[in-house]
Amino acid sequence: MNIPQSSFPRFVIIGGGFGGIAMAKKLRNKDAQVVLLDKHNYHNFQPLLYQVSTGGLEPDSIAYPIRKVLQGYPNFYFRLANVEEIDTKGKRVLTNIGDISYDYLILATGSETNFFGNKGIETMGMAMKTIPQSLNLRSLILENFEQALLTDDLHERDALMNFVIVGGGPTGVELAGALAEIKKGILPKDYPDLDTRRAQINLVQAGDRLLPAMSEVASRKAEQFLEGLGVNVWKNIRVAEYDGKRVTTNTNTIFDTYTLVWAAGVQAVGIKGLDAKEILCRGNRLKVNQFHQVEGFEEIFAIGDVAQMESEEFPNGHPMMAQPAIQQGRNLGENLVRLLDEKPMKPFKYKDKGSMATVGRNKAVVDLPKFKFQGVFAWFVWMFVHLYFLIGFRNRVVVFINWVYNYVRFDREARLIIRPFKKQNRVDRRGLMQD
Ligand SMILES: Cc1cc2nc3c(=O)[nH]c(=O)nc-3n(C[C@H](O)[C@H](O)[C@H](O)COP(=O)(O)OP(=O)(O)OC[C@H]3O[C@@H](n4cnc5c(N)ncnc54)[C@H](O)[C@@H]3O)c2cc1C
Repeated sequence: MNIPQSSFPRFVIIGGGFGGIAMAKKLRNKDAQVVLLDKHNYHNFQPLLYQVSTGGLEPDSIAYPIRKVLQGYPNFYFRLANVEEIDTKGKRVLTNIGDISYDYLILATGSETNFFGNKGIETMGMAMKTIPQSLNLRSLILENFEQALLTDDLHERDALMNFVIVGGGPTGVELAGALAEIKKGILPKDYPDLDTRRAQINLVQAGDRLLPAMSEVASRKAEQFLEGLGVNVWKNIRVAEYDGKRVTTNTNTIFDTYTLVWAAGVQAVGIKGLDAKEILCRGNRLKVNQFHQVEGFEEIFAIGDVAQMESEEFPNGHPMMAQPAIQQGRNLGENLVRLLDEKPMKPFKYKDKGSMATVGRNKAVVDLPKFKFQGVFAWFVWMFVHLYFLIGFRNRVVVFINWVYNYVRFDREARLIIRPFKKQNRVDRRGLMQD
């Protein structure tokens, strides 16, 4: 990997997401050599991916070069590398660009979509966890409308304009709301010769309420907001199969659609070599102690979505969200500095700052530890918080200007088919998904 030997201990961090970057920053100007590996050369601000999928934002306004984050940090090295395996005995990380040894290893690999083994949904459905996937979804949505214009078959046309989003968590709710706004404000103008009133946005939730991780009042209000926008909310229904055209469920309800978005589950991104049964928890997460050490290893740590730190308050680990990843990253960074100074490490304590979701223009729900509120003020709070946590001044300015423009003009001008998406091209000859 062409990284010089150093007299300082080497910390290898896998993953430049929320956790990895928060952690790396704490090692600046310390007696440490830090090597950050990521398969992308950018940090992806996942909470705004749905806006890329729906033409509200360009992808480069929610992505930020990892090299720029580390600019000016002495003894820091970034390598664009896909980590394939960990040799825990030899203390080496094996990647597609070569191997590297470590004194301390930090796993911050995040999570990926969990299709629960359903091959039909995995192959034919759309996920929205990465920027390429969001761009695929954007293209597919727009291509569907172009296609709908061309067919005389009413059933086919309806299927092209029928959207099924599976999963009533924040991602599903936000995407459904954005699509409903497009249907109302943009489609009639863009496609005057198509009866876009027939477009249907269906949000399917297996449980009996949306946003199950939030308060009852937030769930109720989010559902009201969505129904007000014309979204069909289906609760207590489980999607069973999808063949690219028809969605079947565990009830008599079926949907004919060319677009199924799967937002119903995630699982940790595991790495070969650190996958013994004893350390894997539900959803593939790695069991860690209160100092983020992976069970059985003193020099290997895990943070964020990939880590499961069980406590009385969080028996299944912390929520797979940005705040726990950031707070864990900071705590681990401080602990590693303490380790260098030969001081004892501090146990992690999660500070719950609340959660929020937006449904659309002037419509959001916010649960803070002491207050819960919904509507216009919640929407402004949602926007402020997302701008605050976006990495990079330019990104904040661009997103802010886009939001003001979209608000004033009732528009989303990034509805561009830059790279056409074809489902049949998705699976390569080895049967692996390409996006
Ligand atoms: C659509 C969507 C909306 C969301 N909305 C919210 C929200 O509103 N609020 C909220 O708090 N959370 C939200 N989340 C969840 C939040 O984004 C995650 O919890 C958070 O990103 C976890 O941070 P992390 O550091 O653990 O992992 P990530 O931020 O996912 O970073 C993981 C990094 O590891 C890299 N990586 C993975 N595997 C390898 C490998 N083998 N080799 C090299 N590099 C690798 C990846 O490229 C990535 O850069 C959302 C997630 C999604 C997908």
